[in-house]
Amino acid sequence: MTSRVRLLNQREWSSTGRYVLYWSQMNRRVVSNHALAFAVHLANRQNVPVLFYEGLTCTYLYASDRFHAFLMQGVAETARSLKELGIGYVFHLRRRRADPDDAFYRLAANACAVVTDDYPVFVAHSHNRRVPEKLAIPYYAVDASCIVPGTHFEKQEYAAYTIRPKIKRVLEEYLKPAPELRPTHEFRESIPKLHTEVSHENIGELIASCEIDHSVAPSTAFLGGRLAAEKRLNYFLEHNLRRYAKFNREPSAEATSGLSPYLHFGQISSLEIALAVRDYAEEHKLIADGLLEQLIVRRELAFNFARFSPSLDSLDALPNWARATLAKHDSDPRAYVYSRDQFEQAATHDALWNAAQTEVLTRGIIHGYYRMYWGKKIIEWSASHAEALATMIYLNDRYALDGRDPNTYTNILWCFGLHDRPWTERPIFGMIRYMTLDGMRRKTDVDAYIRSVTQTRLL
Ligand SMILES: Cc1cc2nc3c(=O)[nH]c(=O)nc-3n(C[C@H](O)[C@H](O)[C@H](O)COP(=O)(O)OP(=O)(O)OC[C@H]3O[C@@H](n4cnc5c(N)ncnc54)[C@H](O)[C@@H]3O)c2cc1C
Repeated sequence: MTSRVRLLNQREWSSTGRYVLYWSQMNRRVVSNHALAFAVHLANRQNVPVLFYEGLTCTYLYASDRFHAFLMQGVAETARSLKELGIGYVFHLRRRRADPDDAFYRLAANACAVVTDDYPVFVAHSHNRRVPEKLAIPYYAVDASCIVPGTHFEKQEYAAYTIRPKIKRVLEEYLKPAPELRPTHEFRESIPKLHTEVSHENIGELIASCEIDHSVAPSTAFLGGRLAAEKRLNYFLEHNLRRYAKFNREPSAEATSGLSPYLHFGQISSLEIALAVRDYAEEHKLIADGLLEQLIVRRELAFNFARFSPSLDSLDALPNWARATLAKHDSDPRAYVYSRDQFEQAATHDALWNAAQTEVLTRGIIHGYYRMYWGKKIIEWSASHAEALATMIYLNDRYALDGRDPNTYTNILWCFGLHDRPWTERPIFGMIRYMTLDGMRRKTDVDAYIRSVTQTRLL
């Protein structure tokens, strides 16, 4: 079995440290968290307690009320679960840019070792490159995001058909619950001053005090937190797993899980979902292959791409055939050309596209099938392919609750041919797969979707 753990510096264990510090950067949960389990394992071995640290700064990319709210809605539950286990908890809210940016280092100064999340994009990725060398104690990164750890794969996979057999070969080994947490030493110190107490009552006030983008409001459809994630999973199992294969491409049927925001913020793990889906399907004699293909094969293909690709926001990351065909058609005339602002304001000539954009503006998500259409049309109506890519990343990362994720960049680049195959050549797209409004109308209930999104806007 490939280990989930990587030691990212060569430092001695501190003999004066008082705890093992778990820095929860992406996996903001207590259960089914291999990184936290590893921190507990190290702490038990050294006879010290664990301190769980979670930070929220005002400086991350597109910091807004939407992301702050979703994340903070999980804090009180995390605090409660950790208290029951005897694990210490610090949640630090850095409200203004002028506020000190050293909370992690202050906590690490009293730690024997640090354990954190191994994650291939966004802030965790850059922290894990920069921070280990600055510490005098060991810094371990643990893959608690994927079912088969990313390090199991030695290179970038070409497509789903190349990674699928590799995953299937080892899946049974990894499809097992994460170790239970049994810390032997309770955290008894007083909670450091930099802790911010969060309750459902004060979230609004805390968000208002932060120097972030207040124009992107919390989602009208998603409440963050562990409880909300569990409710969604249970609802999906009871009502939609049996419908998923038939209806996952019919947005008006609302048959998908809606779990991607919780996966992105780490409030639930893909492992827990896969185990729950497998068990429920066995018990109720259902076939769950469709959902497991997305959750395991597609999602882990995205992590594999993010881990190995030299760039995530450039057309250079595409396979040769896609780069060549796009270059050939980059200057083709466009029937419509929209600016980033026009896209952002859902002001195109196409009511379906506008509804998809409105969905991300209000709910913070776009149904997966229309998300493909959304991306393809940005390619068709942008002045150049490079501009289309930048627009998509901007809109997705600024508004989507599941944005800034390995799935984000992989799926946006999928619209440009990544992990796909050549199709018939046509203007603008070359041999990249194309999607039409007629096709959407034939295959889905476009009008029902437009109505439902418009109603959300009125909430
Ligand atoms: C242009 C574009 C941008 C996208 N951006 C994101 C993004 O920022 N974040 C994100 O998580 N997904 C993204 N996706 C992939 C997909 O649309 C979402 O994962 C899915 O719609 C989430 O809804 P759900 O949780 O109801 O999915 P379900 O259908 O219930 O699937 C369960 C889980 O499987 C995984 N999954 C589903 N589809 C895919 C896929 N195509 N690739 C990889 N994993 C998948 C997700 O983790 C999802 O939560 C994007 C797709 C496109 C075409």
